[in-house]
Amino acid sequence: MKLSKWLGTISTLALCAVALQGQSQAQAPAAAQGQAAAPRPARPAPVLKTIVEGKVYYAGVGSNVGYVIGDTGVIMIDNGFANASALIKSVTNKPITHVIETHDDTDHINGLYTTPNADKIKIVAMEDNWKQQWTSFKWTEKPKANCPQSPMPPQPNVIIRQPRVETTIDGVKFVLHHYGPSHTGHDLVIELPEYKLAFVGDIVFTTDLFPDAHPGLPPQDHNMFWKSEKRGTPRGMFHSVDELLKLDVTYVPGHGQTLMTKADIRKKRDDVKADYDKQSAMVRAGMSLDDLRKATGEDKYSPARGGCINYVDLPWYVYTETMRDMQELKDKGTIK
Ligand SMILES: [Zn+2]
Repeated sequence: MKLSKWLGTISTLALCAVALQGQSQAQAPAAAQGQAAAPRPARPAPVLKTIVEGKVYYAGVGSNVGYVIGDTGVIMIDNGFANASALIKSVTNKPITHVIETHDDTDHINGLYTTPNADKIKIVAMEDNWKQQWTSFKWTEKPKANCPQSPMPPQPNVIIRQPRVETTIDGVKFVLHHYGPSHTGHDLVIELPEYKLAFVGDIVFTTDLFPDAHPGLPPQDHNMFWKSEKRGTPRGMFHSVDELLKLDVTYVPGHGQTLMTKADIRKKRDDVKADYDKQSAMVRAGMSLDDLRKATGEDKYSPARGGCINYVDLPWYVYTETMRDMQELKDKGTIK
């Protein structure tokens, strides 16, 4: 069964959870022992999709990339897979002049290696994104067995330091929004007000185009994940979705084959938040993290479910953030 099918019917998630748990139980031992992962199936070529004819396009293979046609060039939103920049050539001969990064995850920026003259184009990113790249690529993402480590890609050279930037790039109006940490600590939303669109990166997404990129994501986490090592948190997603809902736009997610409506992103947020709040109540009642993982079925999943990166699960966030809240309340005003 395809992961993407499950998301279409959220109401049947409970039933599906049983199916996926069974599947992952079978997969978990190999991953836990650090054995070589099965080779990924060959991916079909990404297809350029039109959002606004002659103006805005997107394509995805694992992650989505956006293309905005300006007066003299093309502004890309993310550049996450090999030769992503070449796809727009079927529409225009204008050169790539800018790449605006939603965040620094490799599946959103690694296409820069294959972009001609990437060192000469403007690469726009939040300051924390840029700093994180130095940290991630140089020091912390130690390769696991069979997991490649990327060299540092061409670096951002236009740094965003404000939470909201309104600008015109090559004749196209852009509003860049940072609502605080969500998927990472530096998520950037790229709004195109004239086209009533917003590229939201991984603040909210439907599912990967190809589930093999993130095998065995637990449905009880609503097929979402957050990067704790980059200061992401589901709590930030709740706030960011509130802010996104204020925009008069359709949403282009960082992953997923279809655009998302207000109802789609609200439902995704509400589903995660309902589980978050339910689990938080269990922690407040004294449940341990181990027991919380058992109660939610999370213990059936390999910690290596994210492939080359261990994604932190929703119960971990709930437990650590709730415990921190309780400690803060206890210690409030007692600094000595
Ligand atoms: Zn992503």
